[in-house]
Amino acid sequence: MKCRTIRDIEVCNKRVLMRADFNVPLDDGHIIDDARIRAVVPTVHNLLARSSSVILCSHLGRPGGKRVPKLSLRPVALALEGVLGRKVTFVEDCLGPVAQLAADSMMPDEILLLENTRFYPGEQNNDSQMASGLAELADIFVNDAFGSAHRRHASIVGVAERIPAVAGLLLEQELEYLDGFLRAPMRPFVSILGGSKISDKIGLIESLLQRSDRVLIGGGMANTFFRAQGIDVGASLVENDVLEEADRLLEISGDKMVLPTEVIIADKLDSDATCRSVNVSEGVANGWRILDIGAATIAEFAICVRDAQMVFWNGPMGVFELTPFATGTNALARLVAESDSISVVGGGDSVAAVRKSGMAKDISHISTGGGASLEFLQGITLPGVEALLKVD
Ligand code: AMP
Repeated sequence: MKCRTIRDIEVCNKRVLMRADFNVPLDDGHIIDDARIRAVVPTVHNLLARSSSVILCSHLGRPGGKRVPKLSLRPVALALEGVLGRKVTFVEDCLGPVAQLAADSMMPDEILLLENTRFYPGEQNNDSQMASGLAELADIFVNDAFGSAHRRHASIVGVAERIPAVAGLLLEQELEYLDGFLRAPMRPFVSILGGSKISDKIGLIESLLQRSDRVLIGGGMANTFFRAQGIDVGASLVENDVLEEADRLLEISGDKMVLPTEVIIADKLDSDATCRSVNVSEGVANGWRILDIGAATIAEFAICVRDAQMVFWNGPMGVFELTPFATGTNALARLVAESDSISVVGGGDSVAAVRKSGMAKDISHISTGGGASLEFLQGITLPGVEALLKVD
């Protein structure tokens, strides 16, 4: 069922509380990537153009329910002013008299940014008092924080149950792309999964095996499948406690799952390691570890990606943080970007890899929500989306 968006609701002269995802990477108080801040601009502009006043709120990091000055959203207010080209007033609290007074004295066309919602323990407990306190600040709630939509928190779910609640334009766009994969994928639909582990992605792999025409597996997670097939993987990362699950997934996959046939191994996890390419079927010698996919695997994956009408990618193909093992991930980023498919990349590491490779602009959609996109693709209803008003 589709949820209502800001387009379906009258906002003129209303105060709108908008949940954003300003959980930005910080280095010594400086924002090192402002993508999440830029992502809310269309929704904020739309609301202001329709004469509403906008009160923004978000969490940042994990302050554990108490005030942690270095996790203040104050630097975000400054960055927001830059991207919006408008004044943004920072409020040193997200609840209580300070926040209420600031909200009550707003004029249409004004923007407030409230302090970190996770400075209160009630945020993560979806505490009813906290949710009511937030709801009292505004007439309407807008959720534009797809990255947090899988969390049952006060500023996501509780507040949406108390005042009319709709989706922002970013949330709407995220849901439209991902819904396309779930409901009516254009075929061939190719999923690419990488990263370190399969243990936390078993449900996702299973779901994608049902929905995709091909599931390409790279990164450390491939090792556990190799081990389940009885292949020696030397000192590579393996999750021995999910070997049976890996075996089961291989069985249900038929010929859908495509595992690397050739990999790059190294004698240590270091940029100056000695590296070699080996055929997986030969196994990996003691003390050596698989750290990237090799050229033959890239060529095999390329055939699938070039042929695809839709591509979903989560997780790097190797230890891309170290240059000698970033080749597979960069090659996949280029392949996905250059394909004519509708492509979505989700998950922090894969997004970072795509950005690092300079190919981000050629991806149809870069999802702002790692965990949320993976849960959504498993068919799990996201509580933050469930709480919004639905189209009849
Ligand atoms: P995840 O958080 O599960 O998406 O995993 C991302 C991490 O997987 C990155 O930090 C990569 O360095 C790591 N990774 C990818 N391939 C391998 C591999 N072959 N061995 C060990 N770690 C890997």
